[in-house]
Amino acid sequence: MNTARQALETFKMYIDGQWADSASGEHFESDNPYTGRPWALIPKGNAEDVDRAVQAAQRAFTCGEWPKMTASQRGAVLRKLGDAIAGKAEHLAETEVRDNGKLIAEMGAQLKYIPQWYYYFGGLADKIEGEVIPIDKPGHLNYTRHEPLGVVGAIVPWNSPLLLTTWKLAPALAAGNTVVIKPSEFTSASTLELMKVTEDVGIPPGVINVVTGFGPDVGTPLVEHPLVRKVAFTGSDKTGQRIYETAARGLKRVSLELGGKSPNIVFDDAQMENAVKGAISGIFAATGQTCIAGSRLLVQESIHDEFVDKLVEFARAAKMGDPQNLDTQVGPVTNKPQYQKVLDYIAVAKDEGARTLLGGGKATRPECGDGWFVEPTIFDGVKNSMRIAQEEVFGPVLSVIPFKDEEEAVAIGNDVVFGLAAGVWTQDIRRAITMADRLQAGTVWVNTYRAISYMSPFGGYKRSGLGRENGQDAIREYLQTKSVWISTATEVPNPFVMR
Ligand code: NAD
Repeated sequence: MNTARQALETFKMYIDGQWADSASGEHFESDNPYTGRPWALIPKGNAEDVDRAVQAAQRAFTCGEWPKMTASQRGAVLRKLGDAIAGKAEHLAETEVRDNGKLIAEMGAQLKYIPQWYYYFGGLADKIEGEVIPIDKPGHLNYTRHEPLGVVGAIVPWNSPLLLTTWKLAPALAAGNTVVIKPSEFTSASTLELMKVTEDVGIPPGVINVVTGFGPDVGTPLVEHPLVRKVAFTGSDKTGQRIYETAARGLKRVSLELGGKSPNIVFDDAQMENAVKGAISGIFAATGQTCIAGSRLLVQESIHDEFVDKLVEFARAAKMGDPQNLDTQVGPVTNKPQYQKVLDYIAVAKDEGARTLLGGGKATRPECGDGWFVEPTIFDGVKNSMRIAQEEVFGPVLSVIPFKDEEEAVAIGNDVVFGLAAGVWTQDIRRAITMADRLQAGTVWVNTYRAISYMSPFGGYKRSGLGRENGQDAIREYLQTKSVWISTATEVPNPFVMR
């Protein structure tokens, strides 16, 4: 290893309760998006590592302490894990800021909230109740049991590693499954730090494993592994489709949380200052790198000019720079390919004839240093048919699209392949309810944006995904139903006739 590489922090994977190098012994670099330079070395896993992890998870599912635990004991372990995460919140937040470029202000709040998933799903663990069916066959008792599936493969993207891992881990464990996590190759460090936190809370070895590496080397063998019974994926629709196809060959359960191109719709009766803040939070929070980004801002024609002026003024004042500073409002793009992709989309929008109202390129402010920063960008004069309005950019790039009335807002809002989320800004209750009914999206916010809770189901319509995370829907994604028949008859009737 050369000297520059030796100076980097070196991580290990987590398999069967042990810290391990990859089978190949190779590593890859993880970059700090604020400096644009590598800071860590991550083990480069392959199919052999995946097999080791899945075999460990299968063993932990079938024998040992985990399947012997009562549901209440599993719940208690999850609550203990929530407490342990709260105890290490600062370190976990700091790691994710360094590896991902997320704001410390956002990560501080996120780490306060993440334990709630473990408390909530820990609480649900012993409320997974079967039913006694008032069966129509005399002399029989029939009841159902909701049982875990087995080994779950959890594949996570780079934009919110700890939160999105938690969305899978907490319900999967509460239901009694075991898990192999594959973090994004761009942001593995915080997930590995999370494993250190899981070590002392009484989770048996093999129940949670992490294999780091690239999609084709680790993700594909994980989806293909015959012992993996379910794949829980968050990422792009393109990868999601490929995973769905591969999983289909093994007849596996799949849940997919994919991309979005969400409309954030402002009517002329909206409380304007709040709607401006809602539009800002929709697209510039997390540097626009959220699946729920309100990347299409639909503004009613009658207030268009006034609204857009206020929006540009607000966005222009956004403070960029070091994400470790508490007052930074817009951080860097998380990785170099994504940085290039955002800049390419800006060029596409300009070519398509969109008018640049703000930004429109790299940020060269001194406080942005060598980091991968893109200026908060607002395009006006966008038609919904343009690529900039149809394709997910996943960066701080907003397209403003005017509309005449409710009918047109619904038509434009729904005219994309995605259906993850939508926002509506109005003070008219009839309009709010009608819009919430008519928008094709898994989440609709009225006079708010980006509100998410462990209690409320989250997921996509159309190409935004399958299945739901969070809330009681989530735990059902990790269970299968068994029907048990017990005869109370004293003799078996004619065996040649179905009863
Ligand atoms: P991505 O699809 O490129 O990668 C996601 C994960 O899949 C990574 O861990 C990657 O290594 C892995 N992967 C890649 N190819 C694979 C393969 N062939 N088989 C198995 N695994 C493979 O997505 P990304 O760029 O990391 O994340 C951004 C995307 O995630 C955006 O589209 C965004 O909208 C979406 N996202 C969705 C939600 C949601 O809840 N709906 C939340 C966050 C992000």
